[in-house]
Amino acid sequence: MTYQHVQMPASGEKISVSGDTFSVPENPILGYVEGDGIGPDITKACLRVWDAAVERAYDGNRKVHWAELYMGEKAAGIYDGDYFPAETLEAIKDLTVAIKGPLTTPVGKGFRSLNVALRQSLDLYACVRPVRHYAGVPSPLKEPQKVDVVFFRENTEDVYAGLEWQSGSDDNKKLAKFLREEMDADFFEDAGLGVKPISEFGSKRLVRKAIQYAIDNGRESVTLVHKGNIMKFTEGAFREWGYEVAKEEFGDITITEDELWEKHDGKRPEGKIVIKDRIADIMFQLMLLRPDDFDVIATMNLNGDYMSDAAAAEVGGIGIAPGANMADNIAVFEATHGTAPKYADQNKVNPGSLLFSGVNMFEYLGWPEVAQQINKAYEKVLADKVVTYDFARNMTGAKEVGTSQFADALIEKIQSGAAD
Ligand code: NAP
Repeated sequence: MTYQHVQMPASGEKISVSGDTFSVPENPILGYVEGDGIGPDITKACLRVWDAAVERAYDGNRKVHWAELYMGEKAAGIYDGDYFPAETLEAIKDLTVAIKGPLTTPVGKGFRSLNVALRQSLDLYACVRPVRHYAGVPSPLKEPQKVDVVFFRENTEDVYAGLEWQSGSDDNKKLAKFLREEMDADFFEDAGLGVKPISEFGSKRLVRKAIQYAIDNGRESVTLVHKGNIMKFTEGAFREWGYEVAKEEFGDITITEDELWEKHDGKRPEGKIVIKDRIADIMFQLMLLRPDDFDVIATMNLNGDYMSDAAAAEVGGIGIAPGANMADNIAVFEATHGTAPKYADQNKVNPGSLLFSGVNMFEYLGWPEVAQQINKAYEKVLADKVVTYDFARNMTGAKEVGTSQFADALIEKIQSGAAD
């Protein structure tokens, strides 16, 4: 494929994909999108840290070759006003792994959101957000170290599918008439109307991915979160389909919570993954009071959106919460916060969200030694109380530094061997 503006690095190899598996060379080409607002500050800082960690972890025998891809305002400047160039999409498909900073959504340019457009165009159906505590990060919990959970949020369905009709519009009236006359539905005259599609296909592929993740990462349970007591044929169905996929496709390695108590007196048999479910409202309480009950959580779009931000707040907030959007063989890792325009180009904000999205990216690539370098260096830097402004305001005795100085401190720990 020839690109107009994307420059693939002269050296390095693409990740190769064959069926369900992919193979990562020693010198992979990975894509990155700098992003808007604070994006350039955090991206520049993180690229330096990731490269230093790879160099240290493999003694120079492995190296990432980065290809810059364009979306958002930078793309608009290069591609004559196009915020979402087709060749960026092609490059992501070609490279299969990319990482991106936050993007401004252009107002009135035909996109609901660039992120939503990206997810839809590549059918990135799983939003994966690991939430864990790093020693030294300020937290409102007494025992934040008990939080270590990975959210799998369905990305394509639910009330986020964009199926809604404004109160008073012709389409709204048409639908309201059908619902009243044909479906015996009753609601106020001036109600805005929306549809919540939850399919067997969409639910099962999400839960399948969550269970596979639990298997690959030695996790002990997968919790299906739903509001099926009220929304029986959507959220309730998600729960049923989740249990079905566990039984039909992973029956040898999963047991339900009922079986756990009926047959094993509540003690998880070695090597088994417990599949359980919880109702969404009580989950918000349980995540605060008994966070160590949860390991992997699979849920629908709206629940996942609320719940993953709430969980992130338990361990440092969105400034350090990582995320990724995944299809079966494409993964786009991303900062979960926005562009924080008031801090753009000030070398001020916390690079943690993008940094840890990178950590997850290296784990996904099968390079856990890089992840370990960064995680350890991070805890050492925090132990020195070297932090960006957002943590400084919640800590006593903090040494506040800018984004790039925070990266310098991490690199110093990595290069000195303090994170080995
Ligand atoms: P935001 O950019 O996430 O910023 C909200 C607040 O969160 C900031 O003012 C700051 O809090 C804190 N924050 C965010 N990132 C931080 C970081 N790296 N370090 C420390 N603190 C951080 O949300 P927004 O102001 O609502 O949205 C701004 C733009 O971002 C909008 O155009 C929106 O569409 C877009 N957006 C993009 C994405 C994405 O690309 N994934 C996601 C969400 C929003 P304090 O002011 O308290 O310091």
